[in-house]
Amino acid sequence: MKNQGDIDSASVQPVIIPRPEHTISRANISSSALKVLYRLKEAGFESFLVGGGVRDLLLGREPKDFDIGTNAHPDEVRKLFRNARLIGRRFRLAHVRFGREIIEVATFRARHDPDSSDNEAGAHSDEGRILRDNVYGSIEDDVWRRDFTVNALYYDIRDFSIVDYVNGLEDLNSGTLRVIGDPEQRYREDPVRMLRAVRFATRLGFRVHEDSEKLLWELGYLLEDIPAARLYEEVMKLFLGGCALNTFELLRHYDLFRYLFPHTDAVLAGEEDGFPITFVSRALDNTDARLAQGKPVTPAFLYAALLWEPMRKQARELEAGGASPLEAIQVAGNRMVSQQADHTSLPKRFSFPMREIWMLQPRLERRRGKTPFRTLDHPRFRAAYDFLLLRAEVGEAPVELAEWWTEFQEQNPSDRSGMVETAPKPKSRRRRPRKRKPAAASDH
Ligand code: ATP
Ligand code: MG
Repeated sequence: MKNQGDIDSASVQPVIIPRPEHTISRANISSSALKVLYRLKEAGFESFLVGGGVRDLLLGREPKDFDIGTNAHPDEVRKLFRNARLIGRRFRLAHVRFGREIIEVATFRARHDPDSSDNEAGAHSDEGRILRDNVYGSIEDDVWRRDFTVNALYYDIRDFSIVDYVNGLEDLNSGTLRVIGDPEQRYREDPVRMLRAVRFATRLGFRVHEDSEKLLWELGYLLEDIPAARLYEEVMKLFLGGCALNTFELLRHYDLFRYLFPHTDAVLAGEEDGFPITFVSRALDNTDARLAQGKPVTPAFLYAALLWEPMRKQARELEAGGASPLEAIQVAGNRMVSQQADHTSLPKRFSFPMREIWMLQPRLERRRGKTPFRTLDHPRFRAAYDFLLLRAEVGEAPVELAEWWTEFQEQNPSDRSGMVETAPKPKSRRRRPRKRKPAAASDH
């Protein structure tokens, strides 16, 4: 089989679509991206809009961000823009900042020999994974290093034409997500491309081309070698991009979800009281709805939802051993955070509030005395209340409790005391006596 390495890239002639024959207009490109494109061109470099910007504009969608490809080296880019910063070790590139907008400028990449792993600029692992990808080249080299054909269309700022080396336009029109080159080699080089396939297929409503589809089931395990911090970044794109529920379902379909959230995946395979566990789906649907309404979403809430079921399972076991509900959540919550850190690491600034959302759940059951007033003042109250609503929707918490809190917030402060006086006491839990350690302490 012919693979990417066999393609004599210099011999492939691109299809060039002149400006009158396509729909990309400068009016739809951000002015910051245009500034970068023109400044590079005026300095004598090649500069193209490439990636999601071109793809989404051709599909009539609003691009999430604008990526630029150039033959200028990162240092040269930095010299041209006062507001540029070089980032990334594995894949070095420049971020040019305009207020809140960041334009990503990547130097054209070239192939590097997988066997020369002592190379500073380019290096592969023994399994063929790319560890460093900083060997620079021309557009003819760069095109074969991109992931999918629809992501490899270049918009040339010199004449506003589109340059297509890989039949990307054809795939764009037929809704096909096709890996460039040999799919297995390309997934091995960077297993995160499998997650990108799911993300784009869902977001664009595209079909993963059959040549690479079955590999998703076969090669998912390669994700185990990806650093947890990189997977965290990818999880943010997968679940905070507006189609979390569909993405989740497709990840489960290809059996990839378990490499991101193995403990959640294991629990989802089971049932509770004969009912399938629907909390995660419900929470993801809710995340999408919030984003659609322009409401904020936070990684803390997302992770609280994704890890709730496996955390709860551990908490139940602790409660069975005599722990109070709050103790159980504290201990199980901390364990869950460290177990998940091996897979997709959640930064501390989010794992702390995530645990607070969890720990407020048993506290929300206490509606007598001063407790509800203190709960209401807690900085994480709103998130914890939203979380309770979701639990009530799937039947895991009493609807009556959720409604009580809705009413409690809406009441005049002066009427709240009345509510507290008549509130039911928390369901009494028969606490089993703690198992006592045998008197003869362990022998280690
Ligand atoms: P989005 O709309 O999410 O920004 P995008 O296609 O622009 O989608 P980016 O992550 O911004 O994705 O990357 C920009 C471009 O860089 C991609 O379109 C693709 O051509 C290339 N690219 C990004 N990540 C990879 C990868 N892991 N392997 C190969 N090419 C990649
Ligand atoms: Mg992009």
